Amino acid sequence: MNEIRPQFPILTTQVYGRPLVYLDNAATTQKPQRVIDALCRYYTTLNANIHRGAHRLAADATEAFELVRRKVQTYIGAESAEEIVFTRGTTESINLVAATFADRFLTDGDEIIVSGMEHHSDIVPWQLACRNKSVKLRVIPFSDDGQLDLEAYRALFTDRTKLVAVCHVSNTLGTINPVAEMAKEAHAHGAKILVDGAQAVAHIKVDVKQIGCDFYCFSGHKMYAPMGVGVMYGRKELLAELPPYQGGGEMIKDVSFERTTFNDLPFKFEAGTPSVADVVGLGEAIDFINETGLDRIAAIEDDLLRYATAAIDSVKGVKIYGTAPHKAAVLSFNVGKAHPYDVGTLLDKLGVAVRTGHHCTQPIMDRYSIPGTVRASFAAYNTREEVDLFIAALQRIAPMLS
Ligand code: PMP
Repeated sequence: MNEIRPQFPILTTQVYGRPLVYLDNAATTQKPQRVIDALCRYYTTLNANIHRGAHRLAADATEAFELVRRKVQTYIGAESAEEIVFTRGTTESINLVAATFADRFLTDGDEIIVSGMEHHSDIVPWQLACRNKSVKLRVIPFSDDGQLDLEAYRALFTDRTKLVAVCHVSNTLGTINPVAEMAKEAHAHGAKILVDGAQAVAHIKVDVKQIGCDFYCFSGHKMYAPMGVGVMYGRKELLAELPPYQGGGEMIKDVSFERTTFNDLPFKFEAGTPSVADVVGLGEAIDFINETGLDRIAAIEDDLLRYATAAIDSVKGVKIYGTAPHKAAVLSFNVGKAHPYDVGTLLDKLGVAVRTGHHCTQPIMDRYSIPGTVRASFAAYNTREEVDLFIAALQRIAPMLS
C-alpha cells in the first residue's frame, strides 16, 4: 500500500462486519486527516468573521481565507485572484452565472447550447434563469460510446447563440470532453462558454486559460475538501459586467435607502458570511493534491479504471455505459435487466459502496432508454485489491439478479 490511503481515516470503517470498499467518489470523496485537522484547527484557534473585524483574530481568519483564494487561482491557472468567487458548490456557482448572465445578456429569441450529458445542475439553472424569457436550450447529441458529436455541435450555432454550457468530465459516462476546442468554437461564434468542472478538478489538470473558458465551476467536496464550499471562476472583464447575484453584507460599497453601490470583484458576488472553515479546508485539500501530485493521482485512477473495466467483463450480463477513449475514473454499468438499485443494495451488503440511479443526468438515461445505472467511481486512495473485492461481490450477486 502506498502512503495515500492511510491518510484517510474513514477508509478503515467496517460495514456489516466487512471492510468498506468506497467506490462512490464521484458523489463525494473522503477527506484526508490533514483536511479534518485543518477544520478543527480553524475552530480551535482562528474562528472569527472575516473582512470586517478590527481585531487580531478577524485579521488572521481573513488572511487564511484570502490565501486559499490565491491557492485556487494558482491551482486552476486563473489570471487573478479577483476571478475566484467562493460559493457553496458547483450548483450554486452555475446558478450564480445563469441568473446574472441571463439578467445582463439574454433577451427573447436567444439560444443556449448545452450538451446531452449535463448534470441537472447545468440544465435546470438555465431553465430557471430564462423562465420569463423565450430562450431556447439547444442540445449537443452524443454517440453510443459517450462522445459528444462535435459536428452537430458546430451546426447548433446561430446568430442568437449567447452561451455554451458543458461539463469537462461527465459524472455518469466518465467522458472527458474537448472543452478547449469547444471554447474556440463558441468564441468564433461570439458566444461565451461555461465549463462544469465538478468531476474534473480532482482528476485532471485544469488550466482555465489554456481551456479558454469564460466560466469554470466546481465543488470542494469532490476534491478531498469539506462539503459546503465551491468555486465560480469567471473572466474578470465578464464578471465586471455581470450584476450581483445575492444582496447583503460584504457585497456592497455604500448603502442608503435611495441607492446602493457594489463592492469590487470578487466580493460583489460573495454576499453574507461565507463558510470560512470550509474554505480553509479547501486550501488544505489543494495542498494535499499538489503534494501527492495530480499526475500521480490521474495515473492511479486510470490504472484502476482500466483494471476494473477489464475485470467486469467476466461478470455475466454486464453492459458498460460510457466507453469513450478519453475517460476519467467512472464506470457506469448494468447487469442484465436487473434494476440498478437492486444491484447497489446487494453490493452494499457485501461492503461495496456504489451509487445507483440516474445520477442527476436523466437525459442520459433517456438517451439509452434505461432507468439508471450502477456507478463505481475511483479516487487516489482506492486499490486494485478493492476492485477485486468489488468484482468478486458482483460475481457473487449476479446469479441472484437474473
Ligand atoms: N456537475 C456535475 C458534473 C456533478 O457531478 C455534480 C455533482 N454530482 C454537480 C454538477 C453538482 O455538484 P454539487 O452537488 O456539489 O453542487
